Amino acid sequence: MSFDEFQFHPHIIAGITACGYTAPTPIQREAMPPILAGRDILGLAQTGTGKTAAFVLPLLQRLQAGPRKKIRALIVAPTRELAEQIHENIGTMSGQTRLRSVVVYGGVGKPGQIKKIREGAEIIVACPGRLLDHLNDKAINLREVEVLVLDEADHMFDKGFLPDIRRIMKHLPNKRQNLVFSATMPAEIRHLAEDILNDPATVQINHTEAVTTISHVLFQVTKENKTAMLKSIMSQEKMTTTLIFTKTKHKAKSLALHLEKSGYSATSLQGNLSQQKRQQALDGFKNGTFKVLVATDIAARGIDVSGISHVINYDVPDTVEAYTHRTGRTGRATRTGEALTLAANEDVRMIQTIERTLGKKMIRRNVTGFVADAPCEEPLKTREERPIRKKYTPARSGRNKRTRATSFDFGIPVPAQRQ
Ligand code: AMP
Repeated sequence: MSFDEFQFHPHIIAGITACGYTAPTPIQREAMPPILAGRDILGLAQTGTGKTAAFVLPLLQRLQAGPRKKIRALIVAPTRELAEQIHENIGTMSGQTRLRSVVVYGGVGKPGQIKKIREGAEIIVACPGRLLDHLNDKAINLREVEVLVLDEADHMFDKGFLPDIRRIMKHLPNKRQNLVFSATMPAEIRHLAEDILNDPATVQINHTEAVTTISHVLFQVTKENKTAMLKSIMSQEKMTTTLIFTKTKHKAKSLALHLEKSGYSATSLQGNLSQQKRQQALDGFKNGTFKVLVATDIAARGIDVSGISHVINYDVPDTVEAYTHRTGRTGRATRTGEALTLAANEDVRMIQTIERTLGKKMIRRNVTGFVADAPCEEPLKTREERPIRKKYTPARSGRNKRTRATSFDFGIPVPAQRQ
């Protein structure tokens, strides 16, 4: 199938060519016909599937005809980074159409945003909080909006934005087209979708479909040895661009500094940074100044950096959704990538859950010459499987740790121990 079948306006075809797309992805094939026909959509798809273009291209086709300098489309996204990225994608795709988008989020001054809105734009890409501020200040008028897009609705729910979304909807006309995208469908999103959508076409792209180009690899290690193992992996694997995830902001910062001292061009992206610093880190990673970005989960959603060769879970994420979103940063669209996870004893349960969702086992791998911890004489037992009376002893740091048996349970053959 080619893009020809959608009969896009030549200016939009020019945008598709500018992006370098030759054929539509599955979500684009499925979602674009009903969107072009003016129907509401419930799109169950995660980032990495090409869902941004799936809604932006039909949106541009619609806006191409009709009045200018009125806000006719509103796209709401849960994070500043995602909003910025959608706005950038629109910029590339809309070049010849001369349609304009303005991005609106907190952490930066309001006057610049208001000025751009007053200059005239047809599309607003916004995070809920700042958009509500502008609505309350009467700086934005959404009464002419024809299309509402809610992107990553499940993440909006996670961030507690659903009440804001409902408030924003009060500023929209009742007659409009609604497109809701979500990677997962918790009850709250289903209710919201039922309220918002009118006879929607449901488009579902399987989770596994988006990750078929990713190899999932597991390394077992103790918490204490993670940084050493990470550096061993990084020195052995052929990595071009690497995105590393940590659980905490503090760890993201300290690990990036440590890697920088070890000779890597590394930086961090985490919530303690100002919006300007975040953008600098992201831009530096995108333009190749930094080869390694250490991030917390705020960066996991929607960040579109092409050619990420490796995603490394320095810390195993707390949910399967977070794993899917993190690892979805590599192997995007038609590219291939590797998702490497460093797992310690306490991560056994989460790894099992992730593997159930993936529908397959992760590839177990050792790092040549690296001993993660003491050998397991009686290895591979989860907490539940161990005899009841035997006390669970988590791995401890200390000089004697190599002589103590551990309870790794990832089925990785433990290499001969270094003397
Ligand atoms: P998204 O899911 O919208 O974040 O898109 C994921 C990645 O796929 C982005 O890098 C897009 O530029 C890319 N992409 C989107 N549509 C296509 C397509 N039809 N062909 C190739 N790459 C695409």
